[in-house]
Amino acid sequence: MKKISHFINGKLYSDKTARTGPIFNPAIGEKIGEVELGSKSTVELAIQSSKNAFIKWSKTTPINRSRILSKYKDLLMKNMEELAAIVSEEHGKTIPDAKGSVQRGIEVVEYATGITDSLKGDHSSSVGTNVDSYSMRQPLGVCAGITPFNFPAMVPMWMYPVAIACGNTFVLKPSEKDPSCPIRLAELAIEAGLPPGVLNVVNGDKEAVDTLLESKDVQAISFVGSTPIAEYVYHTGTKNNKRVQALGGAKNHMVVMPDADVDKTTDALIGSAFGSAGERCMAISVAVCVGKKTAENLKTKLLEETSKLKVGPYTDKESDFGPLNNKAHYEKVLSYIDIGEKEGAKLIADGRNMKLQGYENGYFVGPTIFEDVKPDMKIYKEEIFGPVLSMITTDTYEDALKLVNDHELGNGAAVFTKSGMIAKHFTENAKIGMIGVNVPIPVPVAYHSFGGWKRSLFGDHSMHGPEGVRFYTKLKTATVTWSEDNSGPEFTIPVLS
Ligand code: NAD
Repeated sequence: MKKISHFINGKLYSDKTARTGPIFNPAIGEKIGEVELGSKSTVELAIQSSKNAFIKWSKTTPINRSRILSKYKDLLMKNMEELAAIVSEEHGKTIPDAKGSVQRGIEVVEYATGITDSLKGDHSSSVGTNVDSYSMRQPLGVCAGITPFNFPAMVPMWMYPVAIACGNTFVLKPSEKDPSCPIRLAELAIEAGLPPGVLNVVNGDKEAVDTLLESKDVQAISFVGSTPIAEYVYHTGTKNNKRVQALGGAKNHMVVMPDADVDKTTDALIGSAFGSAGERCMAISVAVCVGKKTAENLKTKLLEETSKLKVGPYTDKESDFGPLNNKAHYEKVLSYIDIGEKEGAKLIADGRNMKLQGYENGYFVGPTIFEDVKPDMKIYKEEIFGPVLSMITTDTYEDALKLVNDHELGNGAAVFTKSGMIAKHFTENAKIGMIGVNVPIPVPVAYHSFGGWKRSLFGDHSMHGPEGVRFYTKLKTATVTWSEDNSGPEFTIPVLS
Protein backbone atom coordinates (compact mmCIF):
# COMPACT_ATOMS: atom_id res chain seq x y z
CA MET A 1 0.00 0.00 0.00
CA LYS A 2 1.58 3.30 -1.04
CA LYS A 3 2.02 6.17 1.41
CA ILE A 4 2.02 9.66 -0.03
CA SER A 5 3.24 12.57 2.07
CA HIS A 6 4.44 16.05 1.05
CA PHE A 7 7.36 17.54 -0.86
CA ILE A 8 8.91 20.39 1.08
CA ASN A 9 12.25 22.13 0.58
CA GLY A 10 13.46 19.77 -2.10
CA LYS A 11 12.57 16.47 -0.42
CA LEU A 12 9.76 14.28 0.82
CA TYR A 13 8.39 15.39 4.16
CA SER A 14 6.23 13.27 6.40
CA ASP A 15 4.35 14.11 9.58
CA LYS A 16 3.62 10.81 11.31
CA THR A 17 0.90 12.40 13.45
CA ALA A 18 -1.06 13.69 10.44
CA ARG A 19 -4.61 12.72 9.56
CA THR A 20 -4.71 10.56 6.43
CA GLY A 21 -7.11 10.03 3.54
CA PRO A 22 -7.52 6.95 1.32
CA ILE A 23 -6.27 6.71 -2.26
CA PHE A 24 -8.40 4.44 -4.43
CA ASN A 25 -7.99 2.68 -7.74
CA PRO A 26 -11.43 3.55 -9.12
CA ALA A 27 -11.43 0.71 -11.67
CA ILE A 28 -11.44 -1.89 -8.90
CA GLY A 29 -12.97 0.26 -6.18
CA GLU A 30 -10.20 -0.68 -3.76
CA LYS A 31 -7.96 1.35 -1.52
CA ILE A 32 -4.39 1.28 -2.82
CA GLY A 33 -2.76 3.81 -0.55
CA GLU A 34 -2.98 6.61 1.94
CA VAL A 35 -2.22 10.30 1.68
CA GLU A 36 -1.23 12.53 4.57
CA LEU A 37 -3.62 15.43 5.02
CA GLY A 38 -1.39 18.36 5.83
CA SER A 39 -1.96 20.12 9.14
CA LYS A 40 -1.70 23.90 9.57
CA SER A 41 1.89 23.54 10.76
CA THR A 42 2.93 21.41 7.77
CA VAL A 43 1.43 23.93 5.34
CA GLU A 44 3.14 26.76 7.22
CA LEU A 45 6.44 24.90 6.89
CA ALA A 46 5.95 24.74 3.11
CA ILE A 47 5.04 28.43 2.95
CA GLN A 48 8.13 29.34 4.98
CA SER A 49 10.30 27.24 2.68
CA SER A 50 8.89 29.04 -0.38
CA LYS A 51 9.33 32.40 1.36
CA ASN A 52 13.00 31.66 2.03
CA ALA A 53 13.57 30.50 -1.54
CA PHE A 54 11.91 33.60 -3.05
CA ILE A 55 14.75 35.99 -2.23
CA LYS A 56 17.31 34.18 -4.36
CA TRP A 57 14.93 32.82 -7.01
CA SER A 58 13.41 36.21 -7.80
CA LYS A 59 16.94 37.57 -8.39
CA THR A 60 17.92 34.63 -10.61
CA THR A 61 17.98 36.01 -14.15
CA PRO A 62 14.91 35.11 -16.20
CA ILE A 63 17.08 33.32 -18.77
CA ASN A 64 18.59 31.09 -16.08
CA ARG A 65 15.13 30.31 -14.76
CA SER A 66 14.12 29.42 -18.32
CA ARG A 67 17.10 27.10 -18.71
CA ILE A 68 16.01 25.08 -15.68
CA LEU A 69 12.47 24.89 -17.02
CA SER A 70 13.82 23.73 -20.34
CA LYS A 71 15.61 20.82 -18.64
CA TYR A 72 12.42 20.16 -16.70
CA LYS A 73 10.43 19.94 -19.93
CA ASP A 74 12.87 17.33 -21.29
CA LEU A 75 12.64 15.30 -18.08
CA LEU A 76 8.84 15.40 -18.13
CA MET A 77 8.84 14.15 -21.74
CA LYS A 78 11.26 11.38 -20.80
CA ASN A 79 9.04 10.29 -17.91
CA MET A 80 5.74 10.65 -19.75
CA GLU A 81 4.86 6.92 -19.57
CA GLU A 82 5.38 6.79 -15.82
CA LEU A 83 3.44 10.02 -15.20
CA ALA A 84 0.51 8.86 -17.36
CA ALA A 85 0.40 5.48 -15.58
CA ILE A 86 0.20 7.20 -12.17
CA VAL A 87 -2.59 9.48 -13.41
CA SER A 88 -4.55 6.56 -14.85
CA GLU A 89 -4.23 4.36 -11.80
CA GLU A 90 -5.51 6.99 -9.38
CA HIS A 91 -7.87 8.93 -11.62
CA GLY A 92 -9.22 6.09 -13.77
CA LYS A 93 -8.83 7.68 -17.23
CA THR A 94 -7.33 5.70 -20.13
CA ILE A 95 -3.58 5.82 -20.74
CA PRO A 96 -3.84 7.74 -24.07
CA ASP A 97 -6.11 10.27 -22.37
CA ALA A 98 -3.72 10.59 -19.40
CA LYS A 99 -0.80 11.06 -21.80
CA GLY A 100 -2.70 13.76 -23.67
CA SER A 101 -3.31 15.62 -20.42
CA VAL A 102 0.35 15.35 -19.33
CA GLN A 103 1.36 16.60 -22.79
CA ARG A 104 -0.94 19.65 -22.47
CA GLY A 105 0.69 20.38 -19.11
CA ILE A 106 4.18 20.05 -20.58
CA GLU A 107 3.18 22.58 -23.23
CA VAL A 108 2.72 25.14 -20.47
CA VAL A 109 6.24 24.36 -19.20
CA GLU A 110 7.42 24.86 -22.79
CA TYR A 111 5.59 28.19 -22.95
CA ALA A 112 7.17 29.19 -19.64
CA THR A 113 10.67 28.56 -21.02
CA GLY A 114 10.07 31.49 -23.38
CA ILE A 115 8.44 33.78 -20.85
CA THR A 116 11.44 36.12 -20.81
CA ASP A 117 9.87 37.87 -23.78
CA SER A 118 6.64 38.56 -21.88
CA LEU A 119 8.54 39.95 -18.89
CA LYS A 120 10.04 42.73 -21.03
CA GLY A 121 8.56 46.09 -20.20
CA ASP A 122 7.84 49.10 -22.39
CA HIS A 123 10.37 51.89 -22.72
CA SER A 124 9.63 55.45 -23.80
CA SER A 125 12.52 57.81 -24.41
CA SER A 126 12.06 61.53 -23.83
CA VAL A 127 8.68 61.58 -22.09
CA GLY A 128 10.02 64.99 -21.00
CA THR A 129 13.23 66.82 -21.68
CA ASN A 130 15.97 64.42 -20.55
CA VAL A 131 13.34 62.18 -18.95
CA ASP A 132 12.69 58.54 -19.88
CA SER A 133 10.00 56.20 -18.65
CA TYR A 134 9.94 52.43 -18.54
CA SER A 135 7.86 49.65 -17.05
CA MET A 136 8.74 46.25 -15.68
CA ARG A 137 6.83 43.25 -14.41
CA GLN A 138 8.04 41.95 -11.06
CA PRO A 139 7.13 38.72 -9.24
CA LEU A 140 4.65 38.72 -6.37
CA GLY A 141 6.36 36.42 -3.85
CA VAL A 142 4.92 33.13 -2.60
CA CYS A 143 1.99 31.98 -4.76
CA ALA A 144 -0.22 28.95 -4.09
CA GLY A 145 -2.27 26.61 -6.26
CA ILE A 146 -5.21 24.41 -5.27
CA THR A 147 -6.24 21.84 -7.85
CA PRO A 148 -9.04 19.32 -8.61
CA PHE A 149 -9.01 15.54 -9.05
CA ASN A 150 -9.76 15.38 -12.76
CA PHE A 151 -6.37 16.55 -14.07
CA PRO A 152 -3.72 15.77 -11.45
CA ALA A 153 -0.85 16.65 -13.83
CA MET A 154 -2.24 19.18 -16.31
CA VAL A 155 -4.04 21.61 -14.00
CA PRO A 156 -1.10 22.01 -11.56
CA MET A 157 1.04 22.65 -14.66
CA TRP A 158 -1.32 25.42 -15.77
CA MET A 159 -0.09 27.24 -12.68
CA TYR A 160 3.38 26.70 -11.22
CA PRO A 161 5.52 26.73 -14.42
CA VAL A 162 4.26 30.23 -15.25
CA ALA A 163 4.48 31.42 -11.64
CA ILE A 164 8.06 30.27 -11.15
CA ALA A 165 9.20 31.40 -14.60
CA CYS A 166 8.03 34.88 -13.53
CA GLY A 167 10.27 34.65 -10.45
CA ASN A 168 7.73 33.58 -7.81
CA THR A 169 7.93 30.55 -5.56
CA PHE A 170 4.99 28.20 -5.27
CA VAL A 171 3.08 25.97 -2.84
CA LEU A 172 0.86 23.45 -4.61
CA LYS A 173 -2.07 21.79 -2.80
CA PRO A 174 -3.30 19.10 -5.21
CA SER A 175 -6.45 17.03 -4.92
CA GLU A 176 -6.24 14.49 -2.12
CA LYS A 177 -8.03 11.98 -4.41
CA ASP A 178 -5.05 11.45 -6.76
CA PRO A 179 -2.01 12.97 -5.03
CA SER A 180 0.90 10.85 -6.34
CA CYS A 181 1.54 12.56 -9.68
CA PRO A 182 2.08 16.10 -8.28
CA ILE A 183 4.74 14.72 -5.90
CA ARG A 184 6.52 13.12 -8.86
CA LEU A 185 6.26 16.40 -10.79
CA ALA A 186 8.04 18.17 -7.93
CA GLU A 187 10.76 15.49 -7.70
CA LEU A 188 11.49 15.91 -11.40
CA ALA A 189 11.71 19.68 -10.98
CA ILE A 190 14.49 19.20 -8.40
CA GLU A 191 16.22 16.77 -10.78
CA ALA A 192 16.08 19.50 -13.44
CA GLY A 193 17.90 21.90 -11.12
CA LEU A 194 15.10 23.87 -9.52
CA PRO A 195 16.38 25.11 -6.14
CA PRO A 196 14.69 23.56 -3.06
CA GLY A 197 11.68 25.54 -1.87
CA VAL A 198 10.83 27.10 -5.23
CA LEU A 199 8.13 24.45 -5.70
CA ASN A 200 6.63 22.80 -2.61
CA VAL A 201 3.74 20.33 -2.62
CA VAL A 202 1.49 19.87 0.42
CA ASN A 203 -1.29 17.35 0.31
CA GLY A 204 -4.42 17.93 2.29
CA ASP A 205 -8.01 19.04 2.47
CA LYS A 206 -9.89 22.07 3.84
CA GLU A 207 -7.41 22.62 6.69
CA ALA A 208 -4.53 22.94 4.21
CA VAL A 209 -6.56 25.19 1.88
CA ASP A 210 -7.66 27.47 4.73
CA THR A 211 -4.07 27.78 5.95
CA LEU A 212 -3.02 28.99 2.50
CA LEU A 213 -5.98 31.37 2.30
CA GLU A 214 -5.22 32.90 5.69
CA SER A 215 -1.42 33.09 5.49
CA LYS A 216 0.00 36.61 5.34
CA ASP A 217 2.97 35.21 3.41
CA VAL A 218 0.94 33.97 0.43
CA GLN A 219 0.45 36.74 -2.12
CA ALA A 220 -1.70 35.03 -4.73
CA ILE A 221 -3.94 31.98 -5.02
CA SER A 222 -4.81 30.05 -8.16
CA PHE A 223 -7.72 27.66 -7.75
CA VAL A 224 -9.42 25.16 -10.07
CA GLY A 225 -12.35 23.06 -8.86
CA SER A 226 -16.10 23.16 -8.33
CA THR A 227 -18.03 26.45 -8.36
CA PRO A 228 -19.03 26.54 -4.66
CA ILE A 229 -15.42 26.01 -3.52
CA ALA A 230 -14.11 28.43 -6.18
CA GLU A 231 -16.46 31.09 -4.83
CA TYR A 232 -15.38 30.36 -1.24
CA VAL A 233 -11.68 30.49 -2.16
CA TYR A 234 -12.17 33.74 -4.08
CA HIS A 235 -14.04 35.53 -1.30
CA THR A 236 -11.82 34.25 1.52
CA GLY A 237 -8.61 34.91 -0.41
CA THR A 238 -9.53 38.43 -1.50
CA LYS A 239 -10.79 39.23 2.03
CA ASN A 240 -7.27 38.35 3.14
CA ASN A 241 -5.87 40.79 0.54
CA LYS A 242 -4.63 38.19 -1.92
CA ARG A 243 -4.81 38.22 -5.66
CA VAL A 244 -7.13 35.29 -6.57
CA GLN A 245 -8.09 33.53 -9.78
CA ALA A 246 -10.64 30.78 -9.05
CA LEU A 247 -11.91 28.64 -11.89
CA GLY A 248 -15.13 26.73 -11.21
CA GLY A 249 -17.50 24.22 -12.79
CA ALA A 250 -19.05 24.04 -16.23
CA LYS A 251 -22.12 23.14 -18.24
CA ASN A 252 -20.86 23.32 -21.80
CA HIS A 253 -23.37 23.49 -24.63
CA MET A 254 -22.90 22.36 -28.22
CA VAL A 255 -25.28 24.13 -30.62
CA VAL A 256 -25.95 21.93 -33.64
CA MET A 257 -27.25 23.78 -36.68
CA PRO A 258 -29.35 22.07 -39.39
CA ASP A 259 -26.46 22.36 -41.87
CA ALA A 260 -23.91 20.61 -39.59
CA ASP A 261 -22.39 17.38 -40.87
CA VAL A 262 -24.14 14.66 -38.84
CA ASP A 263 -21.28 12.13 -38.82
CA LYS A 264 -18.61 14.63 -37.82
CA THR A 265 -20.87 16.25 -35.23
CA THR A 266 -21.72 12.89 -33.70
CA ASP A 267 -18.06 11.88 -33.41
CA ALA A 268 -17.20 15.22 -31.83
CA LEU A 269 -20.12 15.02 -29.43
CA ILE A 270 -19.41 11.46 -28.31
CA GLY A 271 -15.73 12.16 -27.65
CA SER A 272 -16.39 15.34 -25.73
CA ALA A 273 -19.43 14.16 -23.75
CA PHE A 274 -18.14 10.74 -22.73
CA GLY A 275 -14.32 10.98 -22.97
CA SER A 276 -12.69 10.72 -19.54
CA ALA A 277 -16.16 9.66 -18.26
CA GLY A 278 -17.33 13.26 -18.67
CA GLU A 279 -14.93 14.36 -15.92
CA ARG A 280 -13.60 17.31 -17.88
CA CYS A 281 -14.49 20.92 -17.28
CA MET A 282 -14.60 21.31 -21.07
CA ALA A 283 -16.82 18.25 -21.67
CA ILE A 284 -19.98 18.92 -23.64
CA SER A 285 -22.91 18.07 -21.40
CA VAL A 286 -25.74 19.70 -23.37
CA ALA A 287 -26.44 19.25 -27.10
CA VAL A 288 -28.81 21.93 -28.39
CA CYS A 289 -30.27 20.92 -31.74
CA VAL A 290 -31.80 23.65 -33.86
CA GLY A 291 -34.91 22.16 -35.46
CA LYS A 292 -36.70 18.82 -34.94
CA LYS A 293 -35.09 17.22 -38.01
CA THR A 294 -31.59 18.10 -36.76
CA ALA A 295 -32.45 16.51 -33.42
CA GLU A 296 -33.85 13.34 -34.99
CA ASN A 297 -30.83 12.86 -37.29
CA LEU A 298 -28.35 13.48 -34.50
CA LYS A 299 -30.18 11.22 -32.06
CA THR A 300 -30.29 8.29 -34.50
CA LYS A 301 -26.57 8.51 -35.23
CA LEU A 302 -25.67 9.21 -31.61
CA LEU A 303 -27.47 6.09 -30.33
CA GLU A 304 -25.90 3.97 -33.06
CA GLU A 305 -22.37 5.14 -32.22
CA THR A 306 -22.84 5.21 -28.45
CA SER A 307 -23.84 1.54 -28.44
CA LYS A 308 -20.36 0.71 -29.82
CA LEU A 309 -18.45 2.42 -26.98
CA LYS A 310 -16.39 0.32 -24.64
CA VAL A 311 -16.23 1.31 -21.00
CA GLY A 312 -13.46 -0.36 -19.04
CA PRO A 313 -10.33 -0.07 -16.92
CA TYR A 314 -7.26 1.86 -18.11
CA THR A 315 -5.35 -1.41 -18.28
CA ASP A 316 -7.57 -2.49 -21.21
CA LYS A 317 -6.28 -0.81 -24.37
CA GLU A 318 -9.72 -1.13 -25.95
CA SER A 319 -11.44 1.07 -23.34
CA ASP A 320 -12.87 4.31 -24.69
CA PHE A 321 -13.29 5.65 -21.21
CA GLY A 322 -12.89 4.48 -17.63
CA PRO A 323 -14.69 4.73 -14.30
CA LEU A 324 -15.60 7.82 -12.33
CA ASN A 325 -12.88 8.86 -9.93
CA ASN A 326 -14.40 8.09 -6.55
CA LYS A 327 -17.37 6.44 -4.84
CA ALA A 328 -19.01 9.62 -3.59
CA HIS A 329 -18.87 11.13 -7.07
CA TYR A 330 -20.09 7.87 -8.64
CA GLU A 331 -23.13 7.88 -6.36
CA LYS A 332 -23.74 11.55 -7.10
CA VAL A 333 -23.74 10.94 -10.88
CA LEU A 334 -26.12 7.96 -10.48
CA SER A 335 -28.43 10.09 -8.35
CA TYR A 336 -28.55 12.76 -11.08
CA ILE A 337 -29.71 10.10 -13.56
CA ASP A 338 -32.49 9.10 -11.15
CA ILE A 339 -33.42 12.77 -10.72
CA GLY A 340 -33.54 13.31 -14.49
CA GLU A 341 -36.03 10.47 -14.86
CA LYS A 342 -38.17 11.83 -12.03
CA GLU A 343 -38.10 15.31 -13.57
CA GLY A 344 -39.59 13.87 -16.75
CA ALA A 345 -36.62 13.90 -19.13
CA LYS A 346 -36.61 10.92 -21.50
CA LEU A 347 -33.74 8.51 -20.80
CA ILE A 348 -32.72 7.14 -24.22
CA ALA A 349 -29.37 5.61 -23.14
CA ASP A 350 -28.97 4.41 -19.56
CA GLY A 351 -25.45 3.92 -18.17
CA ARG A 352 -26.54 2.69 -14.74
CA ASN A 353 -26.08 -0.92 -13.63
CA MET A 354 -22.82 -1.39 -15.47
CA LYS A 355 -21.05 -4.41 -14.11
CA LEU A 356 -17.77 -5.36 -15.72
CA GLN A 357 -16.48 -8.85 -15.08
CA GLY A 358 -13.55 -8.67 -12.70
CA TYR A 359 -14.32 -4.99 -11.96
CA GLU A 360 -17.64 -5.37 -10.17
CA ASN A 361 -16.69 -2.82 -7.52
CA GLY A 362 -15.35 -0.24 -9.99
CA TYR A 363 -17.10 3.12 -10.33
CA PHE A 364 -18.26 2.61 -13.92
CA VAL A 365 -21.16 4.48 -15.47
CA GLY A 366 -21.92 3.93 -19.15
CA PRO A 367 -22.87 6.58 -21.70
CA THR A 368 -26.15 8.13 -20.65
CA ILE A 369 -28.37 10.35 -22.79
CA PHE A 370 -31.50 12.28 -21.87
CA GLU A 371 -33.77 13.92 -24.44
CA ASP A 372 -36.61 16.41 -23.93
CA VAL A 373 -34.55 18.12 -21.24
CA LYS A 374 -36.05 21.43 -20.07
CA PRO A 375 -34.11 24.48 -18.80
CA ASP A 376 -35.79 24.37 -15.39
CA MET A 377 -34.66 20.79 -14.68
CA LYS A 378 -31.95 20.17 -12.11
CA ILE A 379 -30.06 17.94 -14.57
CA TYR A 380 -29.83 20.94 -16.91
CA LYS A 381 -29.07 23.62 -14.36
CA GLU A 382 -26.39 21.77 -12.40
CA GLU A 383 -23.02 20.35 -13.38
CA ILE A 384 -23.12 16.53 -13.27
CA PHE A 385 -19.49 15.87 -14.24
CA GLY A 386 -20.14 12.37 -15.54
CA PRO A 387 -20.90 10.64 -18.87
CA VAL A 388 -24.41 12.12 -18.98
CA LEU A 389 -25.56 14.12 -22.02
CA SER A 390 -28.72 16.25 -22.12
CA MET A 391 -30.40 16.90 -25.48
CA ILE A 392 -32.59 19.93 -26.05
CA THR A 393 -34.34 21.00 -29.24
CA THR A 394 -35.04 24.64 -30.10
CA ASP A 395 -36.92 26.12 -33.05
CA THR A 396 -34.31 28.76 -33.88
CA TYR A 397 -30.63 29.58 -33.54
CA GLU A 398 -31.61 32.61 -31.43
CA ASP A 399 -33.36 30.34 -28.91
CA ALA A 400 -30.27 28.12 -28.75
CA LEU A 401 -27.99 31.10 -28.13
CA LYS A 402 -30.35 32.36 -25.42
CA LEU A 403 -30.05 29.02 -23.60
CA VAL A 404 -26.26 29.28 -23.69
CA ASN A 405 -26.34 32.84 -22.41
CA ASP A 406 -28.96 32.30 -19.70
CA HIS A 407 -27.02 29.47 -18.05
CA GLU A 408 -25.17 30.61 -14.93
CA LEU A 409 -21.99 28.77 -15.96
CA GLY A 410 -19.90 30.00 -18.86
CA ASN A 411 -16.78 27.91 -19.32
CA GLY A 412 -16.92 26.61 -22.91
CA ALA A 413 -19.43 26.29 -25.75
CA ALA A 414 -19.31 25.07 -29.32
CA VAL A 415 -21.29 25.64 -32.48
CA PHE A 416 -21.37 23.07 -35.28
CA THR A 417 -22.32 24.58 -38.61
CA LYS A 418 -21.20 25.21 -42.18
CA SER A 419 -22.31 28.84 -41.97
CA GLY A 420 -19.58 31.39 -41.39
CA MET A 421 -22.24 33.97 -40.47
CA ILE A 422 -23.66 31.80 -37.68
CA ALA A 423 -20.17 30.86 -36.47
CA LYS A 424 -19.14 34.52 -36.31
CA HIS A 425 -22.35 35.58 -34.59
CA PHE A 426 -22.03 32.79 -32.01
CA THR A 427 -18.36 33.52 -31.34
CA GLU A 428 -19.08 37.19 -30.78
CA ASN A 429 -22.32 36.91 -28.84
CA ALA A 430 -22.07 33.83 -26.63
CA LYS A 431 -21.42 34.87 -23.01
CA ILE A 432 -18.78 32.20 -22.64
CA GLY A 433 -15.00 32.23 -22.05
CA MET A 434 -13.89 29.61 -24.58
CA ILE A 435 -15.63 29.04 -27.91
CA GLY A 436 -15.32 26.18 -30.39
CA VAL A 437 -16.40 26.45 -34.00
CA ASN A 438 -16.74 22.87 -35.21
CA VAL A 439 -14.33 22.07 -32.35
CA PRO A 440 -15.99 20.35 -29.39
CA ILE A 441 -13.36 20.86 -26.66
CA PRO A 442 -11.84 24.27 -27.39
CA VAL A 443 -9.07 24.15 -24.77
CA PRO A 444 -6.77 27.08 -25.55
CA VAL A 445 -3.12 26.19 -26.22
CA ALA A 446 -0.49 27.14 -23.65
CA TYR A 447 0.37 30.50 -25.25
CA HIS A 448 -3.27 31.58 -25.13
CA SER A 449 -5.13 31.69 -21.82
CA PHE A 450 -7.68 29.32 -20.27
CA GLY A 451 -10.72 30.53 -18.37
CA GLY A 452 -14.49 30.82 -18.38
CA TRP A 453 -17.01 33.58 -17.73
CA LYS A 454 -19.89 33.99 -15.30
CA ARG A 455 -19.79 31.53 -12.36
CA SER A 456 -17.07 29.48 -14.05
CA LEU A 457 -14.38 31.99 -13.08
CA PHE A 458 -14.09 34.27 -10.06
CA GLY A 459 -11.41 36.92 -10.48
CA ASP A 460 -10.06 38.82 -13.44
CA HIS A 461 -7.41 36.58 -14.91
CA SER A 462 -7.52 33.33 -16.87
CA MET A 463 -4.69 30.82 -16.53
CA HIS A 464 -1.40 30.45 -18.42
CA GLY A 465 -0.46 32.38 -21.57
CA PRO A 466 -0.34 36.19 -21.33
CA GLU A 467 -3.08 36.29 -18.67
CA GLY A 468 -1.00 33.94 -16.50
CA VAL A 469 1.98 36.29 -16.74
CA ARG A 470 -0.22 39.25 -15.77
CA PHE A 471 -1.64 37.32 -12.81
CA TYR A 472 1.75 36.28 -11.44
CA THR A 473 3.46 39.68 -11.83
CA LYS A 474 3.04 43.24 -10.61
CA LEU A 475 3.55 46.15 -12.94
CA LYS A 476 6.02 48.85 -11.96
CA THR A 477 6.71 52.01 -13.96
CA ALA A 478 9.83 54.14 -13.52
CA THR A 479 10.31 57.75 -14.59
CA VAL A 480 13.99 58.60 -14.80
CA THR A 481 16.21 61.58 -15.46
CA TRP A 482 19.97 61.93 -15.27
CA SER A 483 19.88 65.66 -16.02
CA GLU A 484 22.09 67.83 -13.86
CA ASP A 485 19.83 70.91 -14.23
CA ASN A 486 18.17 72.02 -11.01
CA SER A 487 15.37 74.54 -11.40
CA GLY A 488 14.34 74.44 -7.71
CA PRO A 489 11.33 72.83 -6.02
CA GLU A 490 8.05 72.45 -7.95
CA PHE A 491 4.76 72.54 -6.01
CA THR A 492 2.36 71.69 -8.81
CA ILE A 493 1.78 68.27 -10.34
CA PRO A 494 4.70 67.78 -12.71
CA VAL A 495 3.88 68.36 -16.37
CA LEU A 496 6.78 67.15 -18.44
CA SER A 497 7.82 69.15 -21.44
P1 NAD B 1 -13.50 20.41 -5.55
O1 NAD B 1 -13.99 21.81 -5.62
O2 NAD B 1 -14.22 19.45 -4.68
O3 NAD B 1 -11.97 20.38 -5.03
C1 NAD B 1 -10.99 21.21 -5.61
C2 NAD B 1 -9.92 21.49 -4.57
O4 NAD B 1 -10.52 22.17 -3.46
C3 NAD B 1 -9.27 20.24 -4.01
O5 NAD B 1 -7.89 20.46 -3.89
C4 NAD B 1 -9.93 20.05 -2.65
O6 NAD B 1 -9.08 19.46 -1.70
C5 NAD B 1 -10.28 21.47 -2.25
N1 NAD B 1 -11.51 21.54 -1.43
C6 NAD B 1 -12.59 20.72 -1.50
N2 NAD B 1 -13.51 21.09 -0.61
C7 NAD B 1 -13.02 22.17 0.04
C8 NAD B 1 -13.53 23.00 1.09
N3 NAD B 1 -14.72 22.80 1.64
N4 NAD B 1 -12.76 24.02 1.52
C9 NAD B 1 -11.54 24.25 0.97
N5 NAD B 1 -11.01 23.47 -0.01
C10 NAD B 1 -11.74 22.45 -0.47
O7 NAD B 1 -13.41 19.88 -7.05
P2 NAD B 1 -13.10 18.40 -7.55
O8 NAD B 1 -14.26 17.55 -7.21
O9 NAD B 1 -11.75 17.99 -7.10
O10 NAD B 1 -12.99 18.64 -9.13
C11 NAD B 1 -14.10 18.66 -9.99
C12 NAD B 1 -14.56 20.08 -10.26
O11 NAD B 1 -13.50 20.85 -10.80
C13 NAD B 1 -15.67 20.15 -11.29
O12 NAD B 1 -16.64 21.06 -10.84
C14 NAD B 1 -14.99 20.68 -12.54
O13 NAD B 1 -15.81 21.38 -13.44
C15 NAD B 1 -13.99 21.58 -11.93
N6 NAD B 1 -12.89 21.87 -12.86
C16 NAD B 1 -12.89 23.11 -13.43
C17 NAD B 1 -11.90 23.43 -14.35
C18 NAD B 1 -11.87 24.78 -15.00
O14 NAD B 1 -10.89 25.08 -15.64
N7 NAD B 1 -12.87 25.62 -14.85
C19 NAD B 1 -10.91 22.48 -14.68
C20 NAD B 1 -10.95 21.24 -14.05
C21 NAD B 1 -11.95 20.94 -13.14
